[in-house]
Order: sequence, then structure tokens, then C-alpha cells
Amino acid sequence: MPSTTPPPGTDPARHTQRLPRRIHRLRTLGMGLAALPTGMVLLENQAGPGAWAFLLFTTVVWPQLALWLALRHPEPFRGEIRNLLVDSILAGMWVPLMAFNLLPSVLLVTLTTVDKISTGIDRLWYWSLPLMAAGAVAVGAATGFEMQPMTSMAVMVACLPMLMIHSIAVSQASYHLVRKVKRQNRQLDELSRRDTLTALDSRRYWQEQAALLLDQCAATGEPATLLMIDIDHFKAINDRHGHAAGDDVLRATAEVIRHSIRQQDAAGRLGGDEFAVLLRGTDVTAAGIVAQRIREGVQALNVQSAPGLQPTVSLGLAKATATGLRTWLEAADRALYQAKSRGRNQMAVDDGLQAAVDLP
Ligand code: GH3
Ligand code: MG
Repeated sequence: MPSTTPPPGTDPARHTQRLPRRIHRLRTLGMGLAALPTGMVLLENQAGPGAWAFLLFTTVVWPQLALWLALRHPEPFRGEIRNLLVDSILAGMWVPLMAFNLLPSVLLVTLTTVDKISTGIDRLWYWSLPLMAAGAVAVGAATGFEMQPMTSMAVMVACLPMLMIHSIAVSQASYHLVRKVKRQNRQLDELSRRDTLTALDSRRYWQEQAALLLDQCAATGEPATLLMIDIDHFKAINDRHGHAAGDDVLRATAEVIRHSIRQQDAAGRLGGDEFAVLLRGTDVTAAGIVAQRIREGVQALNVQSAPGLQPTVSLGLAKATATGLRTWLEAADRALYQAKSRGRNQMAVDDGLQAAVDLP
């Protein structure tokens, strides 16, 4: 019987519980830091037991209750979004409860909004603002909109830990995010450069390199030769041995190519059963030796998933010209066509006169 336990890291329930658990730590810290200036204002304003009880609820009880509610929610992620909006209502309520004491009120509203923005959840902060205003108006109406906006030195000092620790925590989170994005961009870039089946260069990346090499050749006069390689009767290999065996032949051919060239050369899979190699600093005669090595290497392959198969390749060679990448590719293609039409398992070189001739 197949196991019902999902592999580590793929349990969807755990995945969605990640947000509530992460926010719980931040909420506990944030509410704890906010308790300092809020408590100081309540002390200065000689607030009654109701306000103190509400402070205890907001800063100690609510963070635990919020986690419990989110984890009980059928979709913890959605439960946490609701909690984040409750945070906003609570922050709004504290503004009139602090009699609009300027610095802590502004800090509370600003940091609550920053928290919403930094979750990255679409339009969350946008919903947070009217809810914060509603909380402020409701409590203001109930308590008579008492106004004592002057901020004392003691309250200012009590605001500092919240200001400093919150700012550092938010920028640290962005720092990790930026690093993660950079790392993922590097991985994406690497993926787009590689052909996934053979690990040779992808068509796009190979073409970029070919264009660069042509520019270098034009500037320095250095020779370069293009090899176009195509597996013979590959469709029949697929038909006879199956697609998976066909893939093995592609991989094995790529391996032969990789081992036949030097580090400064560039080999790519252009698509299907067609490969291309750029041989830097190599004239057509020297390239012919490399082509021969590849041809013999493929012929000697023994692919386990295709017993009895002796794969072969045809190769077309063309030297770099100043007429551009397209003309170069067309020339090598022409030579390849000649090699195919002359019986396959051989190479031909384009002489630049719209015709190809056999190499000696
Ligand atoms: P020729 O000697 O003239 O080159 O004949 P061919 O059969 O090799 O030529 P053709 O271009 O008709 O066949 C290429 C085949 O390669 C057709 C396609 O089904 C197969 N193919 C393309 N991509 C893949 C792949 O990734 N894996 C496998 N196994 N087959 C592929
Ligand atoms: Mg082919």
C-alpha cells in the first residue's frame, strides 16, 4: 500500500501554517515593544483599570489568541489575514485611548501599515487603513475624543525600542528577501543556459555565444569553425527502441561531443537530434579532426536501453565568415545536408560557394 505521509516540506497544511507561526513571533515582539510607550501614556494620563486591562489583552493575550485562531481556521493563511486586520483595528483603537499622544500614535499607525505592506499580501495595507480609522472613531466616540497630543520625554524614550527594533527587523527581512531573489535569479539564469536533457548549452545561450565569437573573429582575425551535428535516422531509433532509449542516445551523443572538444569551445543542443559546436581558434582542417573524433565516438557507443544499436551522426563544417551568424549557420547546415545526402555517418565542409565538399 502506498504511504499516505507526504514527503518532508510538501505537506500543504504545514505550508499554510508557516505564515501564522512566523507572524506570531513578530506580533509578540511588536506588541511587547508597543506596550512600553502605550503603558507610559496610560501612566501619565492616570488611566483607569479598563484601559490597563485592554493593554494586557492587546499585548499579551491577543498574540496567543491570534495564533490559536489562525491554526484552528480551515485555511490558516486566510485566518492569519483576518488576524492582521484585527491588529489594525486594535492599533486604531489605541490612538484615542492614548488621547492622541502624538509620537506613539503616529508610530503605531505607521508601523502597523508598514507591517501590512511588508507581508507582501496583495492590497492588505489598503484594507488596513479604513479598519484602523474605524477602530479609532469607535473608541473615540465612546471615550469622548479626549485630546492630549503633547509627547513627554519619558514617552519619547519609551518609543525608541519600538522604533529601532522594528526598523531593523523590517530591513533584515527585506535583506533576506533580496538575497533570496538574487539566488533564484542566478538559478533561473543557469537553467535558461542549459539544455535540461543533455546539460549542453541551450539553443538561445549557444546562439548568444556564437554571435559573440563572430564579433571576436571579426576584430582579431582569429579563425573559428562551426560544426553542425545531427543523429542519423533518429526517428527510427525512437520508433524501434522507444522514446526513453532515444533520450539516452541524445545524452550519450552529448557526452561524446563534450569529451571531444576543449574547454574554450561551446557545444549546444539546437533542438531535437541536432547539436552545434563552436571551435575557437580552429581552422577547418583542425576542426575536421574534431569532427572525425565525434563521428567515431558516437559510432562506438553502446547504449544499454537500445541493445544492438550502432548510432551514427552526420556533420557539417563551416568556417567563420564576416557575413553574420545566420549565414554561418546556413553554411554549416548546407554542409550537413550534403553529408546526409551522400549516405550519412560522414562529414562535409561548406566551401562558401553554396556547395559542400567532402573532407579528405
Ligand atoms: P535524418 O537521418 O535525416 O536526420 O533522419 P532523422 O530521423 O534523424 O530526422 P528527423 O528530424 O525526421 O527526426 C528527428 C526526431 O527526433 C523526430 C522527433 O520525434 C525526435 N525528437 C525530437 N526531440 C526529441 C527528444 O527530446 N527525445 C527523443 N527521444 N526524440 C526526440
Ligand atoms: Mg536526425
